[in-house]
Amino acid sequence: MTPEVTVVGAGMAGSEAAWQLAEAGLVVALVEMKPCAMSPAHQSPLCGELVCSNSLRSDDPAAPAGLLKHELRRCGSLVIRCADEHRVPAGQALAVERFGFARAITRRLALHPRIRIERRRLDELPGGPVIVCTGPLTEGALAEVIRTELGGDRMYFYDAIAPIVAADSIDWDHAFRGSRWGRDADADPNSQDDRAAGGDTGVGDYVNCPLSKAGYEAFVALVNTGRKVLPHDFEEPRYFESCMPIEVMAERGPQTLRFGPMRPIGLRDPRTGHRPWAVVQLRPENKYLTAYNLVGFQTRLAYPEQQRIFQTIPALHRAEFLRFGSIHRNTYIDAPSRLGPRFELRTRPSVRFAGLLTGVEGYIESCAMGLVAAWMLAGELAGRDVAPPPPTTMLGGLYHHVTAPRAPGYKYGPTNVNYGLLPPLPGTRKDNKKPRMAERARGDLDVWLATARGTVAA
Ligand SMILES: Cc1cc2nc3c(=O)[nH]c(=O)nc-3n(C[C@H](O)[C@H](O)[C@H](O)COP(=O)(O)OP(=O)(O)OC[C@H]3O[C@@H](n4cnc5c(N)ncnc54)[C@H](O)[C@@H]3O)c2cc1C
Repeated sequence: MTPEVTVVGAGMAGSEAAWQLAEAGLVVALVEMKPCAMSPAHQSPLCGELVCSNSLRSDDPAAPAGLLKHELRRCGSLVIRCADEHRVPAGQALAVERFGFARAITRRLALHPRIRIERRRLDELPGGPVIVCTGPLTEGALAEVIRTELGGDRMYFYDAIAPIVAADSIDWDHAFRGSRWGRDADADPNSQDDRAAGGDTGVGDYVNCPLSKAGYEAFVALVNTGRKVLPHDFEEPRYFESCMPIEVMAERGPQTLRFGPMRPIGLRDPRTGHRPWAVVQLRPENKYLTAYNLVGFQTRLAYPEQQRIFQTIPALHRAEFLRFGSIHRNTYIDAPSRLGPRFELRTRPSVRFAGLLTGVEGYIESCAMGLVAAWMLAGELAGRDVAPPPPTTMLGGLYHHVTAPRAPGYKYGPTNVNYGLLPPLPGTRKDNKKPRMAERARGDLDVWLATARGTVAA
């Protein structure tokens, strides 16, 4: 079987792209380096591995992430279908049991008659049409090849992982269940997965670990003085604002954490009847509720320091850490200046990019760009142009973020899905804006789908 298209990397974008290309009738070689080589964050040989949070964020149809997932479902996304099949309780967020989710993706890809998964690290760009989806931790010589192809343009910033604790090591006498205002509109504005949620979670899905004023102040002091892991020489610490490590927030001022991931607003401790001074919120990490992650607690504190400092939180005084927090390099390319309208390298159009490398941030955003890149390539190989998704849709908003030309001097940076990516809807009341924009997006998506899907599959 001679592959017609190569997809490199079987993460969020590559898994989706390979599936969409194969469904459009193309023969696909999906090249994945795991398990021959593993990035610092990947741990399993599975395709579609979630490296950090197990949440694909809000499923509220009017929330940005919920709207994007709706659009992806309408487009027949493999990733979202597998997520729906493996969801764990997280209220209105779509959180998944990560191994079941990744196994389902891997199985479907492996069994597809037109996909061949090749387990090897690719160190150069292959001939023929290729979509590179090697993500934020692109490894090996390929990273250097891409950098050279881009004319030396490559940027770094950091992404951070929050720790996970065992449920049976939580002291439940010092914790209580509950979502903010009983419906947690945005569990943590500083966590990547919750930040853009704007959606609800079910009452009681979160576990709150309250702190007194004295306890909070002592905690902040420990975070400030705790030993941190220093970045490598080649890593310039440029943090993504919405995925800020707790020590960077703590450095900004004594109250910053209390107005960020530790904010107690909307919570009442049933044992005292009062709002706590601060809280650490825990969210289920699996459907068995045996593990919880510390929401928004991404950190570069050294592992022993995390144990020492986080155990000063009364509910976590005997916490067993199933995973410690850490930070990682993240990479994206200056897409507007280097890529054309089909995500192709302007200097070498057979090479396309998708996923986080193109400057979108997040699992579902990366998956979305994989889908769009695949549809455009499939259409083109069939001799028919697929129009870009309409700018009024979240798919279109992301597409335009990546491809729209920028004024000279503009500093390109990654984005999550959000309503700011879409054109405003004039004459709409503020409180009704999002539902109406979501309604417009759904309508426009259906119109686009009527032609785009036919173009791809025909
Ligand atoms: C530490 C960390 C934490 C993150 N936390 C979150 C989070 O909580 N929520 C969120 O939404 N997003 C998070 N992200 C961002 C997340 O990585 C992306 O959102 C998403 O996984 C990117 O999808 P992708 O398909 O572009 O890359 P990935 O999903 O990373 O997939 C890339 C794949 O390419 C493979 N690969 C790499 N190099 C080669 C090569 N040379 N040859 C062959 N295969 C190769 C890798 O093994 C991997 O399987 C995090 C990122 C990092 C690094």
